[in-house]
Amino acid sequence: MHTQFIPKNSSTSRIEISRENLRHNLKVLAHKAGYGVRRMAVVKANAYGHGTELILPEISGECDWFGVASLEEGIEVRSMGIEIPVLVFAPVKAGLLDKYREFSLTATAGSIEEVQMVNSGTPFHLEFDTGMGRLGLYEEQIPEIISILDQKNLIPSGLMTHFSMADQPDSSYTKNQLKTWNRILDQLPDSWKKGLIHAANSGGLIHYPESRFSMVRHGIALYGYSPDGDESELKPVLSWKSEVVSCKFFRKGMRVSYEGAWTAEKDGWLIVIPAGYADGIPRQLSNKIELFADGRRIKQVGNVTMDYIMAFSDVPLVAGTEVELFGPNSMNANHWAEKSGTISYAILCGIHPKIERELV
Ligand SMILES: *Cc1c(COP(=O)(O)O)cnc(C)c1O
Repeated sequence: MHTQFIPKNSSTSRIEISRENLRHNLKVLAHKAGYGVRRMAVVKANAYGHGTELILPEISGECDWFGVASLEEGIEVRSMGIEIPVLVFAPVKAGLLDKYREFSLTATAGSIEEVQMVNSGTPFHLEFDTGMGRLGLYEEQIPEIISILDQKNLIPSGLMTHFSMADQPDSSYTKNQLKTWNRILDQLPDSWKKGLIHAANSGGLIHYPESRFSMVRHGIALYGYSPDGDESELKPVLSWKSEVVSCKFFRKGMRVSYEGAWTAEKDGWLIVIPAGYADGIPRQLSNKIELFADGRRIKQVGNVTMDYIMAFSDVPLVAGTEVELFGPNSMNANHWAEKSGTISYAILCGIHPKIERELV
């Protein structure tokens, strides 16, 4: 029997997480939240693609809560030995309440059925839909919820709503959501309001200071992006690096990649980089991005393939030369998003979890 050789870290692209930028963003956000307002770091979807294992230990001492999308993600937080409170945004499910209790997770109830489900063993936050049009109870259901919870002698440990457009400053839709939210709060028993009250996502925190209440839930801003896509005082935390695997002379008139979507207008060098749409580079970015290698920007050319992208250079770049796909010297998630018709969130979460991530 022979021993199988599985090379470690053989992957030819890697993610670097800047500890310094993460710290910087935490500081900016703490300042914006202000004294006495608690901060929930939203770490769903592998910490917005940054890597749960790297991000969580770095920030658990700097925030009050973690917000996750699912019970599984909540259990993952606990498996890392982290003890700060965790709110699971997903609607609570019957039969899983004992898991919430076992792992000390806080549940979210956002429908009559879910309110009927909760019990005294599991703290829960009540979610209201003030215009997000996703999960949550309507204002009209308040009397019914009060009567159900009174009968069960239960008090929610938090009250929450979620904005759909707080990324846009001065939006009348968001102001209306806030108005509805304040009206809902007015109708709820005082004993319920002793717990946490929260509404603001990153956009709320940045553009609507009146939406902070007793806690804010920042996601994208923590990772260095303003939700409106503007450059801001925040600093992107993630850089994506790879290397040249092949560099060959390329003559004027030769075509690159599937469908021959790019033709060389002069002689030069074709650079091949081992990252493609299987790694999370949207195919829509074909021919649209610039990379950084050996001190200069190089144009990505031809269609993005599953495992490779190509670039064109006036000078040869030897195999092994580092290439920054995405980072301070090339482009960032906002630029990629703009050019591929999506948002920074989707670019970041789309970076494949198989890619090695390291703190720098
Ligand atoms: C994802 C999410 C957030 C964070 O939103 P950002 O725009 O990334 O700050 C906050 N609250 C809930 C309920 C979410 O699902």
